[in-house]
Amino acid sequence: MEDSAPRPGEKKVVAVVGGGLVGALNACFFAKRGFQVEVYETREDIRCANVVRGRSINLALSHRGRQALKHVGMEEKIVSKGIPMNARMIHALSGKQSPIPYGKKGQYILSVDRANLNKELLTEAETYPNTKLNFDHKLQDWSAETGLMTFARPDGSKTQVRADLIVGCDGAFSAVRKQFLRRSRFNYSQTYIPHGYMELTMPPKHGEFAMKPNYLHIWPRNTFMMIALPNLDKTFTCTLFMPFEEFEKITTGDEVIEFFQKYFPDAIPLIGADALKRDYFRLPAQAMVSVKCSPYHIGDKCVLMGDAAHAVVPFYGQGMNAGFEDCIVFDEIMNRFNEDFGAVLPEYTRVRVPDDHAIADLAMYNYVEMRAHVNSKWFIFRKHVDNLLHLLMPKTIIPLYTMVTFTRTRYHVAVERWHWQDKVINRGLLAGAVGAVFGGSYLLVKNPPNINKLAVAAEKIWNKLAALNTP
Ligand SMILES: Cc1cc2nc3c(=O)[nH]c(=O)nc-3n(C[C@H](O)[C@H](O)[C@H](O)COP(=O)(O)OP(=O)(O)OC[C@H]3O[C@@H](n4cnc5c(N)ncnc54)[C@H](O)[C@@H]3O)c2cc1C
Repeated sequence: MEDSAPRPGEKKVVAVVGGGLVGALNACFFAKRGFQVEVYETREDIRCANVVRGRSINLALSHRGRQALKHVGMEEKIVSKGIPMNARMIHALSGKQSPIPYGKKGQYILSVDRANLNKELLTEAETYPNTKLNFDHKLQDWSAETGLMTFARPDGSKTQVRADLIVGCDGAFSAVRKQFLRRSRFNYSQTYIPHGYMELTMPPKHGEFAMKPNYLHIWPRNTFMMIALPNLDKTFTCTLFMPFEEFEKITTGDEVIEFFQKYFPDAIPLIGADALKRDYFRLPAQAMVSVKCSPYHIGDKCVLMGDAAHAVVPFYGQGMNAGFEDCIVFDEIMNRFNEDFGAVLPEYTRVRVPDDHAIADLAMYNYVEMRAHVNSKWFIFRKHVDNLLHLLMPKTIIPLYTMVTFTRTRYHVAVERWHWQDKVINRGLLAGAVGAVFGGSYLLVKNPPNINKLAVAAEKIWNKLAALNTP
């Protein structure tokens, strides 16, 4: 048995279980504080691996994630390898493309390569002399009483290690969390959505991006959708989100083309018909799960962060960003409580649970917004109204997307504020409409117009209003 317990005078041992995005970043946060950090990762070192299996090829990095990277001096390095996306680019069935900006001019999210980000973070963690990365270590079990962990090795052997603090960053199917489930008063829920996802590659065209690169492209088709994010090698990674039963209906290459012809005709020449026929069947569609739990800690021994604490569906582009923000929030609480784990851990649960639950709910909400609402003229009109009001009253009206993506407003506060703003704006629009009707009526009574002309104009207005409300 290896024993990593500290000797007198030594800093405490922090075991970070999981060397994925959040685990690798968290290792840097703890190492910076001088703890003796041991990272245990079930996979081999991805920096030496031929094939890196991950949950998506690229992801959207935004303000919260960037702030966390900044804390460990990694922001510039990662941002320099990201591709800014200033707006969503909506692809209509007709092939018409219309941009909807994410925020004000100059505000953007970044498309970053997941594998590269993970590698850079592992390399950064390793620069601290007080950090050790242990690959090929799969956590099997651990004791909340003693902090003793048992790891399985690829050769079938087992290793036991003790730590003062165990930080569970081992993802949505966390082995660390299993101990929590055995205890009373631990709340846990998981929901699989009916949709799965599949990634397809859109190659460069004549050495350049096949579509405009500084956008997150969306093909919203109400019950399903496809999105595409740009990569540094000028490819796009397209992700098709669709109910599993629809994926399963398509069983031959010709059916793939027929399906794309019907719903994404403009994408066929860009991805390539042969590639589509081949890649659709390369891997089965992957499931998406939303996990909520509480509390995030056991005594002063263990804490959950990242997807281990809150796996969210990917439709707000916040899973990793929220996980990265977990690291900052924990770090801020460590400052307030002088690194006293007995005080820090319960406070972390108290502060972070409402926010992580709020982003889990928002991600579910955006699941419908991205594939259906963006098709509605009313939705686009409201986005323009919100953005205009934000421009006129930047401190009073802040669009939800802006609060979530471009600020560190606590997620649950953003949701409360959004509901309040929505009520105020809708009432304002209603009052404006009523005022216009009364004002118009008054003018009509004062100056009666030719009734025939009026009927034609009224019909035109009615048709326009009806079009606004059709999705
Ligand atoms: C399709 C898709 C698109 C997404 N897009 C975005 C996006 O645009 N923006 C965004 O912010 N988020 C996005 N996300 C969410 C993001 O991928 C996750 O939130 C993020 O990966 C969480 O990081 P993590 O380190 O907590 O977990 P993971 O990335 O899952 O890492 C967990 C690590 O723990 C290791 N591990 C697991 N079990 C054990 C064990 N028993 N012992 C030791 N190690 C173990 C794993 O090998 C892995 O390395 C997306 C997710 C999906 C599925």
